[in-house]
Amino acid sequence: MSDCIFCKIVKGEIPATKVYSDEQVTAFRDIHPVAATHILIIPNKHIASVNDLEEADEPVMGHILYTAKQIAAQEGVAQGGYRLIVNTGANAGQDVFHLHVHLIGGARLKHPMG
Ligand code: AMP
Ligand code: ZN
Repeated sequence: MSDCIFCKIVKGEIPATKVYSDEQVTAFRDIHPVAATHILIIPNKHIASVNDLEEADEPVMGHILYTAKQIAAQEGVAQGGYRLIVNTGANAGQDVFHLHVHLIGGARLKHPMG
């Protein structure tokens, strides 16, 4: 998707603070962090949201989750705990329609969520 900001981050066309990337996924710091650690992990391929996943995307979604585990350890939040969030659609407040997993840690997070 040529006008998607996260596709542009994958391609290096707009700046981002990347913490990890490989052939399938890219992880970078959220521009408006809500906690000390706030990283977005995305598939390099444009997938608009969870609603747009296809069966063939199962491996990349598993890889995103495993990448989240590794980044949590790298960031030093694995033991203290963290939250993984995937906002999907209007009711969840999804703003960027390139599927992304928020990894948020380094603070006591509000619970229960609402
Ligand atoms: P969501 O509401 O789940 O769609 O969240 C989108 C997230 O993307 C927000 O937390 C934004 O702060 C973040 N964001 C938007 N543009 C950028 C950007 N250029 N670089 C890093 N994070 C961004
Ligand atoms: Zn995209």
